[in-house]
Amino acid sequence: MRHLILLLGDQLSLNSAALAEFDPAQDAVLVIEAPSEATVVWSHKARIVMFLSAMRHFAEEARARGWTLDYVALTDLGQKTFAERLAEALARHRPKALKVLEAGEFRMQSLIASACQTAGVACHWVDDTHFMCSRTEFAAWAKSKRELRMEFFYREMRKRHKVLMQGAEPVGGQWNFDQDNRSSYPKKTGPGEIPLPAAFAPDAITSEVIAEVEKHFPDHPGTARNFFWPVTREQALTALDNFIRLRLPNFGKYQDAMWTNTPAGWHSLLSAALNLHLLDPREVIAAAEQAYRDGRAPLEAVEGFIRQILGWREFIRGVYWLDMPAMREANHYGHQRDLPRWFWTGETHMACVRDCLQQTLAYGYAHHIQRLMVTGNFALLAELSPQQVEDWYLAIYVDAVEWVELPNTAGMALHACGPRFTSKPYVASGAYIHRQSNYCSACRYDPAQRSGERACPFTTLYWHFIERHAKVLMSNPRTALMAKNLNRLSEAERAAIRQQAARMLSQLDAL
Ligand SMILES: Cc1cc2nc3c(=O)[nH]c(=O)nc-3n(C[C@H](O)[C@H](O)[C@H](O)COP(=O)(O)OP(=O)(O)OC[C@H]3O[C@@H](n4cnc5c(N)ncnc54)[C@H](O)[C@@H]3O)c2cc1C
Ligand code: SF4
Repeated sequence: MRHLILLLGDQLSLNSAALAEFDPAQDAVLVIEAPSEATVVWSHKARIVMFLSAMRHFAEEARARGWTLDYVALTDLGQKTFAERLAEALARHRPKALKVLEAGEFRMQSLIASACQTAGVACHWVDDTHFMCSRTEFAAWAKSKRELRMEFFYREMRKRHKVLMQGAEPVGGQWNFDQDNRSSYPKKTGPGEIPLPAAFAPDAITSEVIAEVEKHFPDHPGTARNFFWPVTREQALTALDNFIRLRLPNFGKYQDAMWTNTPAGWHSLLSAALNLHLLDPREVIAAAEQAYRDGRAPLEAVEGFIRQILGWREFIRGVYWLDMPAMREANHYGHQRDLPRWFWTGETHMACVRDCLQQTLAYGYAHHIQRLMVTGNFALLAELSPQQVEDWYLAIYVDAVEWVELPNTAGMALHACGPRFTSKPYVASGAYIHRQSNYCSACRYDPAQRSGERACPFTTLYWHFIERHAKVLMSNPRTALMAKNLNRLSEAERAAIRQQAARMLSQLDAL
């Protein structure tokens, strides 16, 4: 055999660069399911189903094309790990080389390299052209920059890929319409009717996977009972079309809004399909831009959406590969507290956190502001260990792959990487959550109370954080105002906050 082409669970595209020179007469494709991949972190049942079902559907397509496919199923080799399964496949096929697209995880990349070395098989890494900025291009852009900022990278990407451009200028005369994208839902009427995202009832393959997951991973968090995610390219294209037609027009305006029992808002829910390569980011961006050019969606919505994919998604991946493996250990503030148990059950008195966790356990999904400003904000204010929080985020969302999960958690939510690629810590008090949602109206806590029986943990811990880091926050123009506001509090009030914060931090499980 010439090439054994290993396709990982997040590389499910028939256009994969690893398949560019595929010759069924001399090459074979290898796909490996392994129980160890569901237990590296304690994965949500829906996340395991997402990957396995998409892999099995992909295998069907490969077989229909007459490819030689070696598919190692979950139960084929007992509890053998991914590394052991790969080693056996290398021994079975004895290829001249293993060909594989750059992995989405540093751990997986090292594991594959070492399996090849042990087996004495050459390993050909192929640039992952799914992404619009290669790792080399990103490293060249980042070279000599001490601190990396998405906004400047994004402008380069807009120019390079000619997205929303009018000659050398951005369409609409400005690069970023973020200021127009922060509305909350009307407090009196709520979000109103939001068109539902596309949902796909489990077919025979998905149903079989759900049954296997229930059997082999019965105590894993979350449920697969509500599974509705796209698991084939065809379904992913339907989900894209649904979003562009029905939901994109209001995506921007309500991007930061939250409301009880409104898990998706106007968001796209395309991250899992993108991360498993069922969708190409170029086609998603082109569809959004076309909607603007046809007058079907306003510029602020389209620019806001494109910025997430062409800007944040590419930037985050670049930073991950640049800063690994150190990023996994980063802990700017030296936080060490354990993750409260209710992160896995949703059983907390904080209504905002409860809603975000319960929808996460039900669907494996929460939108960006819920991840950043509710669970992430809490984790930072409560001084939780970044590594424990990172493991949780990697386990709990259907779209979680480490290259995108880790920089978002360590860098964005926890500021564990310091100012490396975010200009400030994203901390906010209960007032922010109150403004952006209706959560507080059904909560035992009061967002305006800093101390006392009904003090909101976000509010108390926010002021505690500001006081602890006042000096550094004062020296940063983006956070100086936060620190200055501390002076509005009397010394007695600050002492009460300190005491309240100490009580809360010592019994996080009870909040
Ligand atoms: C702590 C934390 C952990 C996260 N973990 C993940 C993760 O494991 N996997 C993941 O795909 N995203 C992650 N994100 C980013 C973002 O929250 C999700 O991509 C988004 O919520 C997915 O929902 P959506 O498809 O409806 O996105 P939309 O809001 O509709 O956005 C459109 C697309 O833009 C991309 N995107 C948006 N924001 C980001 C971002 N910050 N970084 C990279 N891509 C982005 C996604 O591909 C998304 O599908 C995380 C964010 C935070 C704060
Ligand atoms: S009062 Fe505080 S804990 Fe309760 S919902 Fe509002 S922000 Fe969340």
